[in-house]
Amino acid sequence: MTAPTRTAPDHGSRSARSSQELIRAEESSLAHNYHPLPVVVARAEGVWVEDVEGRRYLDMLAGYSALNFGHRHPELIAAAHRQLDELTLTSRAFHNDRLAGFAEGLAELTGLGMVLPMNTGAEAVESAIKVARKWAYEVKGVAPDQATIVVAADNFHGRTTTIVSFSSDPTAREGFGPFAPGFRVVPYNDLAAMEAAIDETTAAVLIEPIQGEAGVIIPDDGYLRGVRELTRRTGVLFIADEIQSGLGRTGTTLAVDHESVRPDVLTLGKALGGGIVPVSAVVADREVLGVLRPGEHGSTFGGNPLSAAVGTAVVDLLRTGEFQRRAAELGEVLGDGLARLTGKGVVGYRCRGLWAGVDVDPALGTGREVSERLMGEGILVKDTHGSTIRLAPPLTITREELESSLAALEKVLG
Ligand SMILES: *Cc1c(COP(=O)(O)O)cnc(C)c1O
Repeated sequence: MTAPTRTAPDHGSRSARSSQELIRAEESSLAHNYHPLPVVVARAEGVWVEDVEGRRYLDMLAGYSALNFGHRHPELIAAAHRQLDELTLTSRAFHNDRLAGFAEGLAELTGLGMVLPMNTGAEAVESAIKVARKWAYEVKGVAPDQATIVVAADNFHGRTTTIVSFSSDPTAREGFGPFAPGFRVVPYNDLAAMEAAIDETTAAVLIEPIQGEAGVIIPDDGYLRGVRELTRRTGVLFIADEIQSGLGRTGTTLAVDHESVRPDVLTLGKALGGGIVPVSAVVADREVLGVLRPGEHGSTFGGNPLSAAVGTAVVDLLRTGEFQRRAAELGEVLGDGLARLTGKGVVGYRCRGLWAGVDVDPALGTGREVSERLMGEGILVKDTHGSTIRLAPPLTITREELESSLAALEKVLG
């Protein structure tokens, strides 16, 4: 990827105000539900973003994995441009000529039979919950309104009222009750606790194969295979939320591929929209998604032709295997670099593919403070909790760029 060649700022009419002015204007006119780093991005290409004043930064967050292919990947942008000139929205009241190809491609990529297109990740999770409950009543024979879903502590599945009902993060929950019933929270990476929580009412187990927001928590080898075996034996659906872990991030198409496991239901999002439009999906076996009938679920924008065209181009990029290979190879470089920093400001890390949670010595500052210092070195990252930062660069990053970001981390921790 080449960086933007422009060095002098080109404000145009769009960014006539300075970063400081724009940040102040945001603070007075936007809800304060985020605490962004003080950088105002105006343009980007590949792994590089440029702020209003023309300063360049390496994007080591990549939109929480929504930008797995980098900013404005040429093939994705071309697919979007082509589609903008043909058709952008029909609603599902009519068919559109892009949706079939998207669904076929995604089903083939994931090895599952059917696709339910939505827009955001949280919507995909909500949709998977609805489908699992319907399946429980119609196929498994659970008594009406009694279905339960087993989830893991420290999960992150989105921000809707139902989803925060089974969060264990007080900040996500407090002030937002009453909460939806029907969820049982068990410790992550604990098969015995999961088994104990499953009974005849259980429709599904819903987990992240790697817990992203919790700090890139990787379960023990065998856990995902264990969940598959347990859910099969007890007649429960296995829903894997791969919204952040999926689509190349960990060095394989899906994070469950590391244990050669095929869940019954997958939720996908983030990178599925190619960094251009929100695209999410529930992908599942035909016997599961087949329970939905007309009128029972929907979305005005889900499966629109622009999203389907971009999503199809994303699937085409993943079909080459190139991004998975890069993530696996460069993941070794990332892991080696973090191993070298361990004891030198890093007290622990977890890394799979181009995705790492790095625990910084709390004496050196909070994750936020380390993120601000890295910003001063031209590297953008995001903290998760406490003194943990997350590294998740676009999968298009070069070895040199990755090494320079590790050198910057060494510098700010030194
Ligand atoms: C980001 C995320 C979601 C929610 O996606 P949104 O598009 O922000 O609604 C759900 N699950 C996981 C694992 C995520 O990382």
